[in-house]
Order: sequence, then structure tokens, then C-alpha cells
Amino acid sequence: MEVIRTISEMQRISKQLKLEGKQIGYVATMGSFHEGHLNLMQNAKTENDIAITSIFINPLQFGPSEDYEKYPRDESKDIKQAEQAGIHYLFLPDVKEMYPVKSLIDMHIQGRTEVLCGKSRPGHFDGVITVLTKLFHIILPDRAYFGLKDAQQVAVVDALLNDLNFPIELIGVPTTREADGLAKSSRNIFLDNRERQEATWLYKSLQFGQELVVDGMNIPAIIEKEVHDYLSIHISGRVDYVELLSYPELKPIAKIEGTIILAVAVHFNQARLIDNILLTAKGEKINRLD
Ligand code: AMP
Repeated sequence: MEVIRTISEMQRISKQLKLEGKQIGYVATMGSFHEGHLNLMQNAKTENDIAITSIFINPLQFGPSEDYEKYPRDESKDIKQAEQAGIHYLFLPDVKEMYPVKSLIDMHIQGRTEVLCGKSRPGHFDGVITVLTKLFHIILPDRAYFGLKDAQQVAVVDALLNDLNFPIELIGVPTTREADGLAKSSRNIFLDNRERQEATWLYKSLQFGQELVVDGMNIPAIIEKEVHDYLSIHISGRVDYVELLSYPELKPIAKIEGTIILAVAVHFNQARLIDNILLTAKGEKINRLD
């Protein structure tokens, strides 16, 4: 595996790979790898000739009161893990390399963001689409792999690729979970013991909501309320949202139809956790999007 730190070198390699007719699979990350990241890399590796991963903690996507400074960083461990995962190139630019001057172009996404995490993280997805546009131009991927753990991000990337005609196939990869169902996240290390136990109720509450859909409950507002009540009695943290929306449009719906997302977010003391499931109108789980 080669570690690349400059845009010029990464772009030179990507262009050469394209000239050779190689298919590039790409995984964008903020590092602190866990099995979720490694699974994305595995998918990128098995479905393409070349697998490229980037680690960049993008300041633009963190709000002023968010955890940019304390976001976990472990570069040397990440490099080892990416190498073991069989990644060919690891792109590791620093902030000055990615943003040498203040950009003259401001990117703004106006749909799919006024709900879920977009509501409580204004500007977050503008930061995401800005950095991804740059990274896609640097890496030149054929396929980009994103985790469905961050399903709103997948919906936003879907809009970015469609609206701006990026010739990139988007793959939404299933959420990797701990044995007790908790979605793996770099932020789980911020939970204390009690919160770690309680955090299992995020996924349990989603499964509870799924059962309601399977049983024929088709009024989203009732499902949201039932899931909210179920979740809040089991945790000491504050429920940020429980939302049931169409997917990937992320619009409120009057009744259950088409593909839907049921998503939850909880504020614990030192971490805000999210989770979601994608379902058909009959309540069958949708695991992968491609
Ligand atoms: P991050 O480093 O948190 O920005 O995540 C990088 C990529 O890994 C994103 O596409 C995330 O959706 C994905 N990811 C993070 N956690 C998980 C997980 N538990 N299962 C699947 N994908 C994940």
C-alpha cells in the first residue's frame, strides 16, 4: 500500500490508473477505523481492480460547537489496518493541502437536509458535498462506497452525483454492528459503561418500529411516536429525533409506501449516536443499495 499526502501525486496516480483501464473503488473516511470502515474497504477491493481510501477529518462539516478538535485520530494504526485490508492507495492530505486558500465557490444542498441530522447540524452537508466533490476529482473513482449507517449522507451523495453528473456509481453498504446490535462508530468510545448498555436500545427501537410496519401499521406519525416512547424510557440520554421518511427523497409521508427510512438520534453526555433502517412498505429490510 502506498500512502499519498499530496493532491498532485494522488491525481497523477489516479489518472495513470484510468489510462490503464483500471476500475477504482473508493472509500472516503475520517479515520479511526473500525469494522464498518474495513467492510467498506473489503467491498471496494473485491468489486474493483484498485481500492483507494482517504482519511480526512473535514473541518468544513463540523459546526462550531461540534467535536472537530476531539474527534478521535490514530493515523499509524489506521495505516496498518488499511494495509491489512488490502487497500492499494491511502490518501492522507492535511487541512492546508485540501483548503490552501478560502474557496471562492460555496456549495449548498437545499434538499434532503432539512430533516434528520441536517436539521440539528446546519451546514454539515454543505461541508460534506464540498469535500467529496474535491475528493472525487482527486481520486477519479468508478464506484464510491458509503455506509448506510449514515443513510442521509448516502441520499445527499446520491443527489450530488445525479445533479452534477459525476460518472460514479454509488454503493450503500450495510451497517456493521456489534454483537448486541449497536452500530459501530468511531464515537462509541465516548460512551460510559451505562450509556454503552443503553445504546443498544437505538437498534432495538428500530426493530420495534419495523415490527409495527410488518404488522400493518401504516401511519408514520404513530410509528414515530411509539418508537420515540419506546426508546426514551430505556435511555438516560436525550432523544434528538425519531423520523420516518421516504428514501432517498427524505420527505415526510402521510402513509407507508415505497422505500422508507426509520431513523433515530440520541444525545448521550459525550456523544451523539445515530442509527436507521431502510424498509420496503411491507417492512422488509433493505440492506444494500447499488
Ligand atoms: P466516517 O469515518 O465516520 O466518516 O465514516 C466513513 C464511512 O464509513 C462512511 O461512509 C460511513 O457511513 C461508514 N461507516 C461508519 N460506520 C459504519 C458502520 N457501522 N457500518 C457501515 N458503514 C459505516
